[in-house]
Amino acid sequence: MFFGKKTTVTIPNLISSPLLIIENTGAIHSVNAVFCEIFSIDKDEVLNKNYHEIRQLKPIEKNINTSLIQRRPENPRLSYRDKHFEVSITPLEVDRVNCVSVHFYEITPFLEIERELLKRNRELMIINTLSGAFISSENIEEVFSALLEKVLLITDFTTGWIMLRDEADFEVKSSHGISKVFLKEMNEGKIVDLCDNIAKINDPLYIFEEDEIDAIPVIKREGIVILSAIPIKVGNKLRGIMFLASRVNREFDFNLASILSLIGSQFTLIVEKIELFEETRRLSITDSLTGLFNSRHFYEALDKEVARAGRYRQIFSLAIFDIDDFKVMNDTYGHQVGDEILRKIAGVILKESRETDIVARYGGEEFVVIFPNTPKHDALAVAERILRGVESSSLVPDIDPHIRITISGGIASYPEDGSFPKDLLYRADMAMYKAKSAGKKQVVCYNVTHEKGIQKT
Ligand code: GH3
Ligand code: MG
Ligand code: MG
Repeated sequence: MFFGKKTTVTIPNLISSPLLIIENTGAIHSVNAVFCEIFSIDKDEVLNKNYHEIRQLKPIEKNINTSLIQRRPENPRLSYRDKHFEVSITPLEVDRVNCVSVHFYEITPFLEIERELLKRNRELMIINTLSGAFISSENIEEVFSALLEKVLLITDFTTGWIMLRDEADFEVKSSHGISKVFLKEMNEGKIVDLCDNIAKINDPLYIFEEDEIDAIPVIKREGIVILSAIPIKVGNKLRGIMFLASRVNREFDFNLASILSLIGSQFTLIVEKIELFEETRRLSITDSLTGLFNSRHFYEALDKEVARAGRYRQIFSLAIFDIDDFKVMNDTYGHQVGDEILRKIAGVILKESRETDIVARYGGEEFVVIFPNTPKHDALAVAERILRGVESSSLVPDIDPHIRITISGGIASYPEDGSFPKDLLYRADMAMYKAKSAGKKQVVCYNVTHEKGIQKT
């Protein structure tokens, strides 16, 4: 059977994209060859049939119906096999019969672009979010916890942790949703083999199989059923691993996999930046000769300590040390030997003080120590230990192992000797001079009589 109706029926064949015309009865009036080819159907199977009978038109059946009855255009989308179309359904009249034309515009390439754009958009959003975490945080711990929080948000994981490598050990720097026991176990090295294995894998993302999870008791005990690891590499070296986990099973979304890989590479960039930032910061607060904090950092730390102690109604002590007769050492053995002595004394002070104490090189041959949360008599005990430590050390063994160098010290405490940094410094200094004038190699704690003594002289 040929196109049943006069001359107009040939029009569809002039159109290079799929087209058919449907009468208001629902009968298919005409169809072009492209339609038949693309929708894999014989012309005879289509013509004069009702459009309801054409399986390929099912998804847009309602739109055709609406357009036929209400005489208004409809623009649905339709997919067939791997092709996507925007369909333009337009009312028209053919030989005074109300019809609609159904015209298919292929949009497959545009959809791919659209999908790619959406993907890029999401990637940009992730990069933006992650850099935001870096910019808005003040220290490295904060950066990691902000990053982890954002990654969990982006990926819909509920649980995660970031481990950084320090030599052979991995330490958890930030975590979310894990038990204290598990945290402790990880810091004790219970998953170090696993971390080492990840270090050997070159992939940007590792997703653990069920039996792999079962084989690691601490992870299994934590109730984790899905676990993925994103290595954080700087150059070729593994610096850390971000773990994302879930306690409920679900299909692994491979779109997510590409996002996780992207996060991994972004993360690497961020870690590189953080390390550079930390190193620059470290250098800016370090005294290059002794490796102690420099005086700039000391002033900042003293300000902070005064503010902190004020806020929590705590006490703290401050000690100043000065090398006795150092000028003589310099004049006798030279400046280089003098520098070596400074380095060694710095070492003694560090050794005798606690990790929480802040030790700085104050001036040329003066040192300061802030003892947080420490009353005067406890600070005095540490200061005397430092004095004995210096005095008993052989500081210039190459010249004469018997030469002994001594130091003097002064201590002032917050708040009894002052509530402002400059007062505390002034009074610790005053006590130190008292020690010098009393014969050196001793520590003196500040008391008000020192001021009277100074005023007299
Ligand atoms: P006192 O017992 O009264 O402290 O006597 P002193 O000779 O130590 O006198 P003072 O505390 O004024 O010491 C200052 C000397 O410290 C001057 C200088 O030779 C030495 N000095 C300061 N900074 C440095 C440094 O960076 N390297 C070396 N080698 N010597 C330094
Ligand atoms: Mg001095
Ligand atoms: Mg001196």
